[in-house]
This record gives sequence, structure tokens and C-alpha cells, in this order.
Amino acid sequence: MILKIFTHPDPILNEKTKLIELDEINNPKFQKFVDDMLETMYVEDGVGLAAPQVGKSIKMCVISKEYSLDHKDLVLINPVWEKLSRFQVWDSEGCLSVPNVYGKVKRYRRIKIQALNRHGEKINFEADNFFARIIQHECDHLDGVLFIEKAKNLQEVSREL
Ligand code: ZN
Repeated sequence: MILKIFTHPDPILNEKTKLIELDEINNPKFQKFVDDMLETMYVEDGVGLAAPQVGKSIKMCVISKEYSLDHKDLVLINPVWEKLSRFQVWDSEGCLSVPNVYGKVKRYRRIKIQALNRHGEKINFEADNFFARIIQHECDHLDGVLFIEKAKNLQEVSREL
């Protein structure tokens, strides 16, 4: 099922999300929600999607298999990350919740991540470049932060085709 995307300035996008308990993860309803998030991300052509963007204030995001290390759908539950590189790099970002707006955001080039997967198993891995950028962007959503709050050179692209 394709979920509705909540867009800026909906207040849910600025809420801090709730940690997900292990016993919630095995609930078939939760598993269906994960599938719906993945489907919604691919249909909307996003590289990642965080639960608040579809109206749920919980700590979960999904990332496109196009960018994951094993080229499989990546589901991160209760993710936390740490920087592995000293410096941050600027690059262009957009967001399904801020349609047609792009801007440059500074992110760490290399990070390590700890999370639970959709089966509730602990995973940890390192990410760099664009993959690391997506994870930092999605984790910001889980803290109620949108990229437009950190971006410079924000530009609105009109869609008149
Ligand atoms: Zn976003």
C-alpha cells in the first residue's frame, strides 16, 4: 500500500520520534508498515524514507537498495551513527517532504551505524559518500530535523512540463 507523504510545514516532521520496542517489530502490522514504506519510497522515487514522513513518529527509516552495501532493501530501526571522518563535505540534497526544493548540506563523508534490522537483529556497518549522506539525512528526520534547516543555496525547481 502506498502511504501518504507528509510535507513541510506539517508539525510531525519536527517531532522527535519514539524508540521501537523489540516486541513491536515482530508484529505483522509493523512488518506490513515496513513493506508499505519500502513500496512508497520506490514509487515516489526516493533514495530513503523515514517514518515521520508517512505520519508515524517512530525511529525507523528505509534506504533504497540502489545505495545499500548488499543492494538489498535496507531497514534501520532505532539507528545511531558516529562519524569516522573528521571533516564534512557539502553536496546537494532534496527530500520527498519538501518537494522540488534542493540545497547543499554539509555531512560527514564516512560514518558507522548501529541499528536493528526488520527482524530485530543488531546490525552495524560503515557507510561512505552518498550512502553515508542518505543515512545522515534520514536520521535527521528521526530527530525532527529537515535538510532545509541546515542547507545553503536553497533552490526551488518549478515543475512545468
Ligand atoms: Zn527527507
